[in-house]
Amino acid sequence: MGSVRDSNERLSGLEPYDPKYLPAEVMLSANESPFDIAPETRERVEARLGELAFNRYPDPLANGLRDGIAASCGLERGNVLVGNGGDELLFDVFLAYGGPGRTFINLPPTFSVYAYNAHLTGTGIVDIPRLDDFSVDVDAVVARLSEGDIDLVVLTSPNNPTGNLISEVGCRRLLEASDALILLDEAYIEFADASLVSLLAEHENLLILRTFSKAFSLAGVRVGYLLGSRKVIDEFTKVRQPYSVDAVSQLIASCVLEDRDTVVHERVAGTVARREELFRRLQDMEGVEVWPSAANFLLIRVANAHGVWQELYEGHSVLVRDFSSSAGLSDCLRVTVGTEEENAAFLSALEKVLGTQAVRPSG
Ligand code: PMP
Repeated sequence: MGSVRDSNERLSGLEPYDPKYLPAEVMLSANESPFDIAPETRERVEARLGELAFNRYPDPLANGLRDGIAASCGLERGNVLVGNGGDELLFDVFLAYGGPGRTFINLPPTFSVYAYNAHLTGTGIVDIPRLDDFSVDVDAVVARLSEGDIDLVVLTSPNNPTGNLISEVGCRRLLEASDALILLDEAYIEFADASLVSLLAEHENLLILRTFSKAFSLAGVRVGYLLGSRKVIDEFTKVRQPYSVDAVSQLIASCVLEDRDTVVHERVAGTVARREELFRRLQDMEGVEVWPSAANFLLIRVANAHGVWQELYEGHSVLVRDFSSSAGLSDCLRVTVGTEEENAAFLSALEKVLGTQAVRPSG
């Protein structure tokens, strides 16, 4: 058996991204929607699917879907780029604006995929840790940007896994501090109703990432999009894979987008209401620290979090996400807002595991 030479040295020591997705009765670990698309949406998908030619390549740029997204954001087709989930577009961001000799500012604790992509593409990383309340240290980032060598900053609003937003004032200060590309990851923005998309009109260096995986119930379909100035979006057309969004995904996302003001809107409102209820219940639970969240998940801190995570999973088949070994998140777990039943199952399991009772009944 012959041997094979080593792969690219950047891969050595790199652990593959692991979403830690294990089978469980109560799945609250991946910030998915607990609800599949509405039955009437599925009917529309199935009817249109019957007319789709599977033997032909899809529209490479998904122009029909781009137009729908552009209209929903008050933008034009040239300001939108569709990709195979936000994850693919995040990789494209590092291909286009990162790379050897280029530098990106990371704001941990945050979504680990940014730093992963930086390693993969040989992009230099400058970590500027968030403040104690998880807000961005805007003064420190502005000071670092003023040195002039930063190519890319990734802001996440609401931030994953901490759930907090970046203020408009803070975002403007970063946009105006230099010409670095500021990627604003709004994967969870529908749960906050606080998009900074209006800043695109004044700032060529702003790029916004969104996804159909959360509010639009399409995590399994893999569609995300970027919103930006034409100049920036045109750069992405150079690095993207020509047919990365297949025809079926384009069709499904277009159908779901048509429901944004009806069923999607109602479901988001329901998730926000259940998030607030879950927040109150967790606040009332002894031994639990919980942070307010603008997203569809909550971050909590409990003693011996890894043991609690394990006991929730093994003893109660409740899967949440363990962040207890991540920098700045000691003893932290992240729980996705589920259905009422799922949230109740999680709360009851957590109470049992912590051996406590809610100290006050919830209002
Ligand atoms: N950004 C953030 C902050 C996320 O949490 C996620 C999903 N975990 C993504 C982007 C990518 O989502 P998707 O690839 O499903 O569109």
